[in-house]
Amino acid sequence: MSYVNDVLSDVIRRNPGEAEFHQAVTEVLQSLEPVVEKNPLYQKNGILERMVEPNRAILFQVPWVDDQGVVRVNKGYRVQFNNAIGPYKGGLRLHPSVNLGIIKFLGFEQVFKNSLTGLPIGGGKGGSDFDPKGKSDREVMAFCQSFMTELYKYVGKDTDVPAGDIGVGAREIGYLYGQYKRITGLYEGVLTGKGLTYGGSLARKEATGYGLVYLMEEMLSARGKSFAGKRVVISGSGNVAIYAAEKATQQGGLVVAMCDSTGWIYDEKGVDLDAVKEIKEVKRGRLRLYKDYRPQAEYHEDGVIWDVPCDIALPCATQNELHLDHAQTLIKNGVIAVGEGANMPTTPDAAHAFQQAGVLFAPGKAANAGGVATSALEMSQNSLRLSWTFQEVDQRLKGIMVNIYHQMDQAAQKYGMKDNYIAGANIAGFTKVADTMVAHGVV
Ligand code: NDP
Repeated sequence: MSYVNDVLSDVIRRNPGEAEFHQAVTEVLQSLEPVVEKNPLYQKNGILERMVEPNRAILFQVPWVDDQGVVRVNKGYRVQFNNAIGPYKGGLRLHPSVNLGIIKFLGFEQVFKNSLTGLPIGGGKGGSDFDPKGKSDREVMAFCQSFMTELYKYVGKDTDVPAGDIGVGAREIGYLYGQYKRITGLYEGVLTGKGLTYGGSLARKEATGYGLVYLMEEMLSARGKSFAGKRVVISGSGNVAIYAAEKATQQGGLVVAMCDSTGWIYDEKGVDLDAVKEIKEVKRGRLRLYKDYRPQAEYHEDGVIWDVPCDIALPCATQNELHLDHAQTLIKNGVIAVGEGANMPTTPDAAHAFQQAGVLFAPGKAANAGGVATSALEMSQNSLRLSWTFQEVDQRLKGIMVNIYHQMDQAAQKYGMKDNYIAGANIAGFTKVADTMVAHGVV
């Protein structure tokens, strides 16, 4: 058995029932095989064993009272995965599907993603099985205050800096920040994705979606291609999806389809983003309302968005949303590039099918790193007590995404896997963290 296989079988044996975590670790470790073979120091220092075990996993109860006066209890999580290169950093997810395995998979991925940004941030993730959908503002506030009443003990501007993710946007970050300030008396950059009136960064809201398109543009331009004139399909209609659609449109692409968890829209003239923003960001409604704005568009609850023919597909909703049969349809319909805005949205067999078919495939840990990179820029601005302009932040974001593309491209080539960006991103992200862990000794 190789070192990688030993560690992998241990992970599966010691973390039963955590399917998403197994999937993420398997994908990363398998692509690291040539790297650990070439660098025996990694095995000698137990780097893989230490990387697959979170430094700390905090599980807590989140009690709150709903609008009917009924006491509710949710599960709260914060997994501090690895802080070799900087404070733990990663979002909080509020969704009924959240469990420890999902938070661990996200935290594990975050370590490599954060390393790829070139900024000094370690990896972590957290969240709860609380569902903000259909809750009143007061209920969301009660939940967030209770969540922070436990979480504040473990976070801080130099130790662990959470942010948003699915179900956590400006409203939730505001309530969480308010409670942190109230309990600790500290006015510090303990969270990112904050409102602009209390330390938030311009362009943070746009960053993940914009960053995804910047990286895809660089990857396409290396082949003499671009977004201009391309048909684009984007799953999701949340933070990442909306701003990916906005930037793809600015770059000359035509976004023809988007979805939410109930259905999908097809608008052959190009999706009206103002309508989507109003439905999702203002009304917090369902995408079926889109037909009220554009009666000529289609709305479907059957079938899948990946049946829509396109040149570029950007899965931006959630994990494992794009399966092998979807990939086969996309390939048959002539897709040339796929970029993961969400975390692990493509199943491993689907990702493999894209690569086999010569479709450019950008994995999430590289392609969606713009959000956390801009969060790190928000931390810098908070430390400096300064606010940069939108253009300044956007320019830095673009530079970071271009650099991530070249890092993964070069790492893939160095290990004889040209154009395999899954391996390239894993290797480039891993090397910096692993070398730092070797330098720090066994701690
Ligand atoms: P949001 O909550 O803003 O949006 C999520 C979107 O995906 C919504 O449209 C939601 O539909 C849809 N969705 C969620 N679950 C499902 C499902 N099971 N099937 C179909 N659609 C679904 O989240 P974000 O946009 O912030 O995050 C999306 C993805 O991007 C996640 O994987 C997240 O981890 C990742 N990511 C986010 C970053 C950020 O900065 N926000 C940074 C890096 C990665 P509905 O409205 O019906 O709930």
